[in-house]
Amino acid sequence: MRVHLINPSALSFGVGVITPRWLYVLAASTPECYGEPCITDETLERWDPDAVASGDVVGIGIHTGNALDGYEIGRRARDRGAFVIFGGIHATLYPEEALDLGAAHAVVKGDGDLVWATVLADCARQAPQRIYDGGKVEGADFKPARWSLVPRSKYMWASVQTVRGCPKHCSFCSVWKTDGQRPRPRTVDGVVDEIVALRRIGFRFIALADDNFYPVTLDDLATAARRQDKGRLQELTAMRAERFELMAALAALPEDMVFYTQITMEAAEDPEFLAAMRKAHIRGALIGVEAVTPEGLKDVYKDFNMSGERLVDRLRAFRHHDIHVLGSFIFGLPSDRPGTFDLTAELAERSGVTFAQFVMLTPFPGTVDFAAWERTMEADPTRIEGVPLTRHWLIPKGKQPKVYVPHPLMSPEEIRARTQAVWDRFYSWTNIWSRSRCVESIKARVAFVLISKLYRQMYANTGIATDSARVNRSATWARWIARPCQRLFAARPMPDLQAPRGSI
Ligand code: SF4
Repeated sequence: MRVHLINPSALSFGVGVITPRWLYVLAASTPECYGEPCITDETLERWDPDAVASGDVVGIGIHTGNALDGYEIGRRARDRGAFVIFGGIHATLYPEEALDLGAAHAVVKGDGDLVWATVLADCARQAPQRIYDGGKVEGADFKPARWSLVPRSKYMWASVQTVRGCPKHCSFCSVWKTDGQRPRPRTVDGVVDEIVALRRIGFRFIALADDNFYPVTLDDLATAARRQDKGRLQELTAMRAERFELMAALAALPEDMVFYTQITMEAAEDPEFLAAMRKAHIRGALIGVEAVTPEGLKDVYKDFNMSGERLVDRLRAFRHHDIHVLGSFIFGLPSDRPGTFDLTAELAERSGVTFAQFVMLTPFPGTVDFAAWERTMEADPTRIEGVPLTRHWLIPKGKQPKVYVPHPLMSPEEIRARTQAVWDRFYSWTNIWSRSRCVESIKARVAFVLISKLYRQMYANTGIATDSARVNRSATWARWIARPCQRLFAARPMPDLQAPRGSI
């Protein structure tokens, strides 16, 4: 019984930006008696069904964006006589869908780290259950990924998780619902050991793939103190201390290491935290800016963000601590006006963000937005290829609308075209070259340009363009640029590197 783990994707680029961590975590959770799992990441290359034999187990991890691709793989794997198991955020939300459309024998809801061995044992005795509930695994029990199986030359960044869960409740995000609002931090030694293992094999760029790297804000501490809630204050203080302990441990790793994380912009008010991040080699952060106006922030329940000039100041605070920002902005919010697009582009440029992404509001399952939208769509008769809009991820690729939520002022095409124009503006040659001043040598500036263009081709043109010719052209372009980019991220292996605290 061979174990196959598959990350589905409609587009393959030959080279991946970030390692899909779950593949290597489940590989680590696969008991040795089943041999070495066969791993396929379709963002690199297509899955080969001929590799699957009758009686094998095929594990497929899906999020909403690749659910349809995953279901096709599930059906083909089942036709070959394999046990088909689905997991991931989307399968957790819609287990019955994976059973019906993906021909699954079983679905794992929640974290797979601990329950995967039980699933495999049940398959080995030909008796998988329909549903397994992996629950929310505590940080101390997170499985370290099995990085010895990763094809080193295929990825730019590795990925390590330091905390799951986010205490916020943004309306467009499912993380706080699926991973929970109680942060589950991993042990410092667990994180550092995994990073050392990665540096040993030549990864020096590592994404800290956390839901929110800053789970305790100064405001949270002040609120607990004001309420004289001693228990809560102690809990928060301990969690904050643990973050600093982690960053001190990261700071003791080799100087050439570069980390990147996801964080809320409240960290800008916490210079001690930003200084510790810088020392810890955390050189970049994805920040959900979402909207640049107070009305827009209200639309997405993100009242802890700033707008206007205070937003500019907050984003610049990261740059002052030498932390590059990838700003994420949403278009199509009810309060957006035609002028919002230029205002956003101008603010993104002025606030010194190094990279930016501009996404169109899409109601994703598991979010507050989706639940509200689904209710309003109950009587909507629209079907595309027989699929209602509230199951948009099941609409065949190329036929999916780009905008789902009707806007009070703008048509879907206007929102799409204006969003595309903002991408064009932010990633114009002139603007990229100007931003490339954030690095010093000419070689580094050329690398910066290549990576900016790659980012744009991979994420904007393949997602927003309406015609398939443009999508295919972009994918081809991305394939061409990705290979030289990957080489820029390669580092000399350090096989003898020891963990600074002596844990491995
Ligand atoms: S968008 Fe970010 S801050 Fe908001 S709930 Fe999701 S993970 Fe948390």
